[in-house]
Amino acid sequence: MTDSDFVPLIKSGKIERKIKQIAKVLDKKYGQEDVCFVCVLKGAVIFYSKLLKYIKNKNVELDFVEVKSYCGTTSTGEVKMLKDISIDIKNKHLVLVEDIIDTGLTAKFMCEHFKKQKPKSILMCSLLQKPDKLSVDLNMETLVAFNIPNKFIIGYGLDLDEKYRNLKDILILKENK
Ligand code: 5GP
Repeated sequence: MTDSDFVPLIKSGKIERKIKQIAKVLDKKYGQEDVCFVCVLKGAVIFYSKLLKYIKNKNVELDFVEVKSYCGTTSTGEVKMLKDISIDIKNKHLVLVEDIIDTGLTAKFMCEHFKKQKPKSILMCSLLQKPDKLSVDLNMETLVAFNIPNKFIIGYGLDLDEKYRNLKDILILKENK
C-alpha cells in the first residue's frame, strides 16, 4: 500500500481537540466518583492514552480488555474475548473506551459481559461510529466523538491486518484496495 491508497478523513489536530472536550464531559459527569476506564484493545489504545491524560478525576482505575471481530476489512459477525479485565468494577462506574462502533456487536457483547459484574453504570465512549452500519439495538449509554461514513478506515489506532495503527490521522482506505 502507498499513500495514494488512502484518503484523509480526520486530521490529528481535530481529533485531539475533540478528545479534550470528551474528557471535560466525562469529568463533569462523574466528578470525583469511582470510575473504571477500560480500554478495548487494540484499536482504542491511542484514543485511550490521550483521553486519560486530560481526565482530572483522581478516583480512576485503568484496565484493558481485548476482543476481536474483524478479519481484514469485514466483520466476522462473531465477537471473541481474548483478554478480560482483572480489576473489580462492582458498584463503580464503567467507561468502555472503544475505537469504533460499526455493527454494534462488540459494544453489545461487552455490555452484556460486564453487566454481570454489577458496575454502578456502563458508558461506551467511542472515538468513531458508523451510524449507517449499526445492526443491533445497543441499549446502552454512548458518547461518540465523530460519526463517519460507511467506509473502512485506518490510523489513530485502527488497523488493516495489524498495520497502520501508528498513523496520526484517520484515513479512508480507497475502494478495491
Ligand atoms: P462492530 O462489532 O461494531 O461491528 O465492530 C467493532 C470493531 O470492528 C472495532 O472495534 C474495530 O476493531 C473493527 N472495525 C469496525 N470498522 C472498522 C474500520 O472501518 N476500520 C478498522 N480498522 N476497524 C474497524
